[in-house]
Amino acid sequence: MQRRIAVISAAASGIGLAIAEALLGDGWRVYAGDQDVAAVAALGGRHEGLSAMVCDVSDAESVARFFACIESDLAARDEAGIDLLVNNAGISGPTARFEEQPIDAWNATIGVNLNGTFLMTRSAIPLLRRRAPGSAIICMSSTAGLFGCPLRGPYVASKWALIGVTKTLAMELGPEGIRVNAICPGSVEGPRIDRVIAADAAERGLTAQEVEREYKRQTSLRTFATKEDVAAMVQYLMSPAGARISGQAIAIDGHTESLSLDMEA
Ligand code: NAD
Repeated sequence: MQRRIAVISAAASGIGLAIAEALLGDGWRVYAGDQDVAAVAALGGRHEGLSAMVCDVSDAESVARFFACIESDLAARDEAGIDLLVNNAGISGPTARFEEQPIDAWNATIGVNLNGTFLMTRSAIPLLRRRAPGSAIICMSSTAGLFGCPLRGPYVASKWALIGVTKTLAMELGPEGIRVNAICPGSVEGPRIDRVIAADAAERGLTAQEVEREYKRQTSLRTFATKEDVAAMVQYLMSPAGARISGQAIAIDGHTESLSLDMEA
């Protein structure tokens, strides 16, 4: 069977790297883009089949350079296109009441999370078409794309928007046999959620332990997800079992009941 090929944004660490490592383990070739120059350099040569390159998804020129490198590498390998784009890049944005959100931080959050997905996707579609039917796009939304979430206005706006983008792309590309889905992780264990918890605790005058307990109580399973849970869903969606799944927003979150916070605290 032909070796399958993925492009993953923000793949030098965190969930993106876990997805890259899972797909590499399944025999895929992976093009990993990330804005962190040092992390990209550290990844170089670490895995057979992984090409790591600098790419800031919010910068149209950076995305164009990334895809120019991918296309020339594909041509050198006599490969036609790619099987999967994972729009994984997304920043947390500020923790603040809506009316106190700084416009620059609002624009930066939308710039990475939403505009970045637009820039990556429009460059990837011609490459995905060359491997259709059977190619796919996965957008990394969040449970913040399914619920309101106090103090996270720009993040929530961007993650809801990604579900609209996912459903629209699924309709535009479905007739060509290209599937498009969104994954909605809940809080994922790791340094990023620790930073979000610390910012929330500072904003509301609570301890980090109190906020973590509150977040876990928001889910029926009283749990956080792991990056491996998210990577496993990508593997499932790209397995034969996922071949009829498109246009969906799939939560991996221990069943979030609500993202409500005690704003009186
Ligand atoms: P992270 O904050 O750990 O960052 C991972 C990588 O993103 C870093 O290597 C960073 O350099 C890169 N990055 C940041 N801005 C970028 C840009 N403009 N262009 C390219 N790369 C960029 O993130 P994570 O926890 O791995 O999250 C990955 C995705 O999952 C995001 O879209 C995030 O919103 C979503 N998500 C995360 C959680 C969580 O709890 N961690 C929960 C739900 C959804």
